Amino acid sequence: MSTRRQVLDRLTGLHLHQQHGRRAPHKPLLVLLALGRLAGTGSSELPWSEALQLLSDLIAEFGPASRTGRAQSAAYPFTRLRSDGVWVLSQDVPMDLVGPLTTHDVSGRFADPVEAALHRDPELLRSVARALVESHFPPTIAPDVLVAVGLDPDDVLHAAAPAPVAGRRRKAGWRADVLRAWDRQCAFCGYDGQLGHASVGVEAAHVRWFSHEGPDDLDNGLALCVLHHKLFDFGAVGLDPALRITVSAAFTARTDVGRSVYDLHGRTLRPRPGTPLPAAEHVSWHRREVFKGDALAA
Ligand SMILES: [Zn+2]
Repeated sequence: MSTRRQVLDRLTGLHLHQQHGRRAPHKPLLVLLALGRLAGTGSSELPWSEALQLLSDLIAEFGPASRTGRAQSAAYPFTRLRSDGVWVLSQDVPMDLVGPLTTHDVSGRFADPVEAALHRDPELLRSVARALVESHFPPTIAPDVLVAVGLDPDDVLHAAAPAPVAGRRRKAGWRADVLRAWDRQCAFCGYDGQLGHASVGVEAAHVRWFSHEGPDDLDNGLALCVLHHKLFDFGAVGLDPALRITVSAAFTARTDVGRSVYDLHGRTLRPRPGTPLPAAEHVSWHRREVFKGDALAA
C-alpha cells in the first residue's frame, strides 16, 4: 500500500526532462486526464483509442506549439509515464511507438497502489491535481485545463496545497507596480476601465510564466485586460523580437468584436516614459514556449 505522501511525491515529481524553462506538459496532462476519469467513473482506465483523441487535443490546446504529429505527441506520455512507476499498460509495448498501441488498443491506468490510494482519498486526488496544474500552467489557464479533463476547478483549486512550492516567493507589490508602470491600461488595446477609483479588468501578466522561472520583475510584466491576458497566456497573441504584437494564424473569430483581435497584429507597445519594455530573453521564451505556431501574414 502506498502512503499519501508517496503517491503525492510520485505523481507530482514526474520525470519531465524540463530544462531551461522548457515546457513539458505531456505527462502532467495525461495524469490530469486519468485523475478526471478516476473521479468521474471510479477507474482511471483509458484505452488508447480514446486517449489518442482526448490527450492529443489537450496537448494541442494547452501545450507549446509542436511539429510532432498528434498521435506521436500522445504516444509519448502514454508509454513513458510507465517509467515513473505510476502507470501501467495492459500489455508491454515499446516506448513512443504508435503502431502497437493502435493494433492492440492497449489500455493504460494508474498502477494499483496509486489507484487505490487516490480512490479511497478524494482529497488526495484533488491535491495532486492542484499541484500539477499550478506547476505547469498560469492561473489564467489552470481552470480551463481542469474543465477539459473533467475536474471541477472550484474543488481542485481550493484543495489543500500539498506541499510548499519549492523555492521562489512572489515579490510583494509586483502586480501593483506593473499596473502603475503601464498607466493601468492594457498594453495591447488600451482598455483602462475603472469602477469608482479602482481599475477593473486590467491585470499584471508575466511574459515568461512565474511557474517557469519567470521573475517578478518589471521587464517581465505587462498590464493586460482580462481578455488579452488570457489570449497572451494561451499563445493566441504574442510579441515579435521588435516588440510588435503578433496574432497567431491559429486564432479565428467571426464577429466584429472577435475580429478586433486581428487589428492588434503589427502594433507596437507604447509604454509611458521610463517604463521598462519586456526583456528580449522573456519575449523569446514566450515565443518559443507559448505562442501558437505561425503569426498572421503582416
Ligand atoms: Zn486589451
